[in-house]
This record gives sequence, structure tokens and C-alpha cells, in this order.
Amino acid sequence: MHHITPVFEMDNVAYKMDCYQPSGSFKLRGLGRLMHLANQNGSNHFVSSSGGNAGLTAAFLANKLNSEIEVVLPVSTDHHMIRKIEAYGATIHVHGNHWAEADEYARKIVENKGAFYVHPFDHNIIWEGHSTIITESMKVINEPEEIYVSVGGGGLLMGVLLGLEAAQWNTKVFAVETFGANAFHQALEAGKPVTLEKISSVARSLGANRIPNDIFLKAQQHEVESILVSDKEAIQGCVRALDLFGSLVDPACGSVVSAVSKSEKKRLAIMCGGRLMSHEKYVEYLGAFDIC
Ligand SMILES: *Cc1c(COP(=O)(O)O)cnc(C)c1O
Repeated sequence: MHHITPVFEMDNVAYKMDCYQPSGSFKLRGLGRLMHLANQNGSNHFVSSSGGNAGLTAAFLANKLNSEIEVVLPVSTDHHMIRKIEAYGATIHVHGNHWAEADEYARKIVENKGAFYVHPFDHNIIWEGHSTIITESMKVINEPEEIYVSVGGGGLLMGVLLGLEAAQWNTKVFAVETFGANAFHQALEAGKPVTLEKISSVARSLGANRIPNDIFLKAQQHEVESILVSDKEAIQGCVRALDLFGSLVDPACGSVVSAVSKSEKKRLAIMCGGRLMSHEKYVEYLGAFDIC
């Protein structure tokens, strides 16, 4: 269901441009595989609990699959995201103060109506779908020394690691988060997944409060290293992405652009993309972080 995206090479960095997916992010890979399979097995009613790129992508896919979708959004969801999700014909429920509460409500709908539940990151079929971001890249570039990938709940990271195994690349992986949304970093420190008390970062698409154990174990096995960037650096990365590619990306993606610039090695940057960044928000962040 996803598009094959280009790889742009510049100054020893290859940028895998999943910001060009039609739903705005790499999430189309994994959610596309999951929902397409479910649809083939007879599901035509989906439920998502994300007000972010997962909800947007699930709505995009349901529209393509001529299926019904209900998206449960926490009250904190930005209006421009609600509009975009609605534009694909989704039924919107605004419920709960944060994702966990919205998710609880979503699971009730799933139970009551026998609909198909679409998790934003925790499913092996989603991971298989995400892994194509590497198996696609290997057709156009040689093995890089380093890969930079952002981590929210870790679904993309898991996909990258599975993709590396399939490609037989021994590339060093750096998991990029912001200081305020660092569930993976804290899990590495603790030696096991931990639940964050609170998340505070402009990188809303990285705002998962816990990494699933399977993903944590796989990351340990691959000796994935953590990199943290500040919110300001993430926004500076967005500025650079706009300069380089003319694309407005989420701070999650900006954090990767920022982190990848700190090395000299032969690198692959996973441009996760995202549609949470409106032009109003972009201007607001430039002011808030005193970036000109
Ligand atoms: C979902 C998302 C992430 C994080 O992906 P996970 O699989 O949750 O780790 C990063 N960037 C963007 C733009 C996203 O939409």
C-alpha cells in the first residue's frame, strides 16, 4: 500500500525520504500491511486511537480499502490533525485526556462492534511492513556505516532492525529521541522497558510512554545506541529539512536530521516525515526557540 520513496545522497548522508509517503510518514508501510491483510481476511471496519500520524495513516488506508474507520482522539489533539483525519471520511470520537484513555475507549468500540483494532506500533505485521524501508534502500545504496532512526514506541526501530537482518547489513544503529520523550533511552539505562511518568517535548510523534519488551530485546541484541537531542535541535533539523528538500516535517524527523549531522561516517538517515507540523506551528516554534 506504500510508495517506493527516493534516497537522496548528500555529503556522505543518504536520506530515505518517507516524508514523501502520501499519508506523510513511514507509518503507511506497517499499517498498510496490517490493514490490507485484515481487509483481505474480511475486515472492513477499523478503529485507531491515535491523533497523530498513525490515526491519519489508518484513516488514509481505510479510505483506500473502502472501509469504515473510527478514530478516537484525546482532547489535546490539534485541530488541523482532526480536519485532516476527517477529510478521509473517518468518524471522530474525542475522548480522554491522553492517548491511554483514548485507547481504552477505542478498545471498547472494538469489543462492542467487532471492529479491527489498529495499534500505532506494537504488532509483528507492522514491523514487517516497516522493514521494507531498509530492504528498499539496499537496492539503491551500499551498506552504510551508521543508520539514524527516531524512536517513539519503537515500531520503526524494530522494522529497521528486521530490515538490516534481511539485508545482511552490519550497520551501527542510532536511536534518536528528544530529552522529553526518551522511553528508549530510559529503558537502556534501566536495562528493561520502563513507563515514563510524563512526556514533554515538541516531538509529539515520539510521545510513547513505554517500549514493548520484544523491541527492547531486539535493540539490545543489535547494540543500538541512544542519541538525545534538545527540542531546539529538533526544530533546527526541521529548518534544515525544509532547506534541503522543501518539506515541512515533524520535529521527530527534524531530530534525525539534527543527530545525523554530528557524524562524518557514511550514514543513512531515515526521514520518518509526519504531518503534525502545520505552517502555523512551524512559525510558532521558530519564535519560541529563537531561531531565525
Ligand atoms: C510514529 C512516528 C515516529 C515513531 O515511530 P514508532 O514506531 O512509534 O517508534 C517517528 N516519526 C514520525 C513522523 C512518526 O509518525
